[in-house]
Amino acid sequence: MLEYLESLNEPQRQGVLNTDGPCMLIAGAGSGKTRVLTYRIAHLIQSKNVDPFNIMALTFTNKAAREMRERIEKVVGHEARNLWMGTFHSVFARILRAEGHHLGYPNDFTIYDTDDSKSLIRSIVKEQGLDDNIYKANTVYNRISAAKNRLISWSEYLTNAELMGDDAANMRPEMGKIYKIYATRCFKSGAMDFDDLLFNTDKLFKEHLEVLNKYQHRFHYVMVDEFQDTNLCQYFIIRKLAAVRQNICVVGDDAQSIYAFRGADITNILNFERDYPDLKVYKLEQNYRSTQNIVNAANSVIKRNRAQLPKNVWTQNEEGNLIELIKAVSDNEEGRLVASSIFEERMQHQLKFSDFAILYRTNSQSRAIEESLRRMNIKYKVIGGLSFYQRKEIKDLLAYLRFSLNQQDEASFRRIINLPKRGIGDSTVDKIVVAANDHGTSIWEILQNPSPFVGGRAAAPIEDFVAMIKRFSMELGRKDAYEAAFEIAKGSGLLRELYEDKTVEGLSRYENVQELLNAIKEFTDTPDREDRSLGAFLQEVSLVTGQDEDKDKDPDKVTLMTIHMAKGLEFKYVYIVGLEEDLFPSQMMLSSRADLEEERRLFYVAITRAEKRLYLSYALSRYRFGRLKNCEPSRFLDDVDQRFIKVSSKYAGIESAPPPSSQYAKNLVNGIKKTISSAPVAKAKPAAYTPPADFIPSDTSALQAGMKVEHPKFGFGTVVLMDMSGADKKAKINFNEAGEKTLLLSFAKLRIV
Ligand code: ATP
Ligand code: MG
Repeated sequence: MLEYLESLNEPQRQGVLNTDGPCMLIAGAGSGKTRVLTYRIAHLIQSKNVDPFNIMALTFTNKAAREMRERIEKVVGHEARNLWMGTFHSVFARILRAEGHHLGYPNDFTIYDTDDSKSLIRSIVKEQGLDDNIYKANTVYNRISAAKNRLISWSEYLTNAELMGDDAANMRPEMGKIYKIYATRCFKSGAMDFDDLLFNTDKLFKEHLEVLNKYQHRFHYVMVDEFQDTNLCQYFIIRKLAAVRQNICVVGDDAQSIYAFRGADITNILNFERDYPDLKVYKLEQNYRSTQNIVNAANSVIKRNRAQLPKNVWTQNEEGNLIELIKAVSDNEEGRLVASSIFEERMQHQLKFSDFAILYRTNSQSRAIEESLRRMNIKYKVIGGLSFYQRKEIKDLLAYLRFSLNQQDEASFRRIINLPKRGIGDSTVDKIVVAANDHGTSIWEILQNPSPFVGGRAAAPIEDFVAMIKRFSMELGRKDAYEAAFEIAKGSGLLRELYEDKTVEGLSRYENVQELLNAIKEFTDTPDREDRSLGAFLQEVSLVTGQDEDKDKDPDKVTLMTIHMAKGLEFKYVYIVGLEEDLFPSQMMLSSRADLEEERRLFYVAITRAEKRLYLSYALSRYRFGRLKNCEPSRFLDDVDQRFIKVSSKYAGIESAPPPSSQYAKNLVNGIKKTISSAPVAKAKPAAYTPPADFIPSDTSALQAGMKVEHPKFGFGTVVLMDMSGADKKAKINFNEAGEKTLLLSFAKLRIV
């Protein structure tokens, strides 16, 4: 038997070998769905001589696609590079780059990220004289996104607002109009937002049957991982693509559907059975990932949901340890307990930091955890925080690159027209945009002959700007992406401006821009790359997500991320933190039973990431929205069958902890510090300071040596020294009670007194 077939159980093998015809694999977490998909592709190439160019495989993240490709490469060699494999967004962007002209888009269309989209919406709301409290950019963006994902165009929206089943008709009557202006402006800018990549692919295939036909014949096999999280638009597209050959294989787990809030539709699974009557369905029930205790605990949780397909997930793996529950008095305490547990487990079992993951419901929870990890010198990485590509200086240079490629791009234009400063103010910019809209022409047209619209003083700098962009645009034809980008960074004056800024922040911005240029160099230097143009590079970076940026030189780090980001991944040790009512299940998401069930599926996803050990934790008090709040343990803790869980014995005594403000709680905290004192925790003197309940941190950007500050835990102190040398500003503070501490300003909550 072929080697890769030996490492599969019987139903998995069937899933790999039966390559033709529609097929669905709905199976529990860790049962090898992704593995089946990977080997199925390898098998098609290796044994059935299918050309990788004829295979489309859609994954949830680019990183998942990369990992799959690497595994396939082990079986079939370099050919694996030719697969059409990636996220829905990246694969469809590739198709649109080749075919977008059918819809009137330039081939080098710009991809707007969420920020670009929201600022465009903000300016539309302003131009229309609407109340930006009612028409919040975020709300409008989400409404438009939801419409597109349900394939509702602006014209349908306008004529049928109740389609959305929301308040569009009464509370926000202008929503449809904003949608129309937004869509028109994006189109005129030669730009697509993330949802357009799906919406327009569907449109392309609907309106241009010859194009659809071409791709139907190109893709002999279509495969989708994490099928439970596809939305209607995605489903329609893959169904169209597979309509001729019907070789479509989807894998997923209804119990892990966690994107309903973004329009993912679990009924796609049911539709699939209806749409393909001769569907082969494979069931996988054996879990290879986790211990028995973890599998059983996960089963006991998901059983509480009413809506689910029947499944019996079991494992032959060892029974393993019981799940441990860590109870903490505060969020900081929780961070400390988790950090010291990682420290001990790693020593005891000779693990790597990379064997550990800490999962939370919302990004903001990482702060307290990070602080504790840093104190214990535990290396970690936060996945999905502010991404490199979201930084201002990076977006600035990218905007220059985008505008040099596509002079219709309004968002990029707004960003760079006065950067570095060249005396073109906001009102001039507004005049140009308005003139372009009034005359039904493009911004670029107006820029070439601005005098009728703008004041005399702005004309000369605009002329220089236009000449510069024309020069850049010409360079693009002659040079590869790196050479062109370097010319643009230099020629625009951006590099010089950053170089001349000798502050620490300026230096770090300069380095970031250099880093972007390095990334472009790496891109052009990649062997076998078909397209080395700047357009190809920009398309790739536009679709980079937080999870993909993991190019860390030192891979041995604890991973911190939200549960949504953790989908499909696995770690030996998993800590799920913040299991408190209102936080998880999230108060903001909870308005119906369906919402609660989605939150519970999220909990199920989190539990099933763990291979060997699982820790759950909660805190009795936590800073939320700048205030200290008392918390109650999450209802989800009661969902876990108590046979599989125990209270962590390492920190005994904490069960009966009263509310955190009492003296008892404080002694308890100090007691815990003692029990973990073998670990290098920062030495804090017993605190006589009582944290105020209504502590509101100040803006510390102007903090200077000599200033007096208050910290919610360390009390009052004086700033001794400011350290601006690293990427993060630090302050050395001498606290009256707690002694000298060096705090990172981006994390420390300080009130200037
Ligand atoms: P999820 O629902 O979390 O996406 P999944 O069903 O995709 O999980 P995989 O990630 O494919 O599951 O597999 C889980 C783990 O079990 C992986 O480490 C995989 O290598 C391993 N595994 C799967 N099948 C087998 C098998 N037959 N023999 C040994 N290990 C296996
Ligand atoms: Mg998987």
